[in-house]
Amino acid sequence: MRTPLVAGNWKMNLQRTAAQDLAAGLAEQSGSFHGVEIAVFPPFVYLDVVHTALSGSSVRLGAQNVYWESPGAFTGEIAPEMLVDVGCRYVILGHSERRHILGETDADVFAKAKAALTAGLAPVICLGETLEQRESGQTQSVIETQFDGSIAELSADQFHQVTVAYEPVWAIGTGKNASPDQAEEVHADLRKLIANRYNAELAESTRILYGGSVKPGNAGDLLGQANVDGALVGGASLKLADFVAIIQAADSD
Ligand code: PEP
Repeated sequence: MRTPLVAGNWKMNLQRTAAQDLAAGLAEQSGSFHGVEIAVFPPFVYLDVVHTALSGSSVRLGAQNVYWESPGAFTGEIAPEMLVDVGCRYVILGHSERRHILGETDADVFAKAKAALTAGLAPVICLGETLEQRESGQTQSVIETQFDGSIAELSADQFHQVTVAYEPVWAIGTGKNASPDQAEEVHADLRKLIANRYNAELAESTRILYGGSVKPGNAGDLLGQANVDGALVGGASLKLADFVAIIQAADSD
């Protein structure tokens, strides 16, 4: 039985007071949910204040990126150990905005995943095709290539800590979500890839999140799919009521 995870990716949004208020509101409401794990991913500079605002609640903290080196002379980067030090459990890796806007490669994602795991962080690794790739029938091969390049060289022991997120690029921030059938098809393929590379038990226990314009109105249908184990939520995670409604839709209790 996989406990669903609802993860809020705040991206480069909110400032100190708004971040604190959102986290405190979420902490307060989180006590009503028992069959779902909740995590938020604020910008680096607010991790500390959000950690404080979440204290005493079960809401987990994550970062949106990390560097693959340990602390040292890497101006502008953040080491995995630093994320652990400010209370992070998770780190998002390979988000399409980093792949497409900042040129992050599968090899970069893999290096970051290894370093994050070594420091004790649990990576949420994002994969997904562009609209052009979907329309030319390449979805499956793109997902496979990204899986091979950014995940598959991890050992089974390391992979155990990984959450996979299917995030079709054309659905992120566009208001146009994948249909539940489209999401389920890719999630089922991903589970097969995991079974082939690792084993059936790991495939069964791995959480595969869907991300791309998840909102209160579509969360129930998407999360109702057999292989959809939660959501990575961007825009709707910035509004407390919307995020809570998505958490409610995911709650298996
Ligand atoms: C995301 O940032 O991972 C995301 C899915 O964004 P949105 O929910 O806004 O589409």
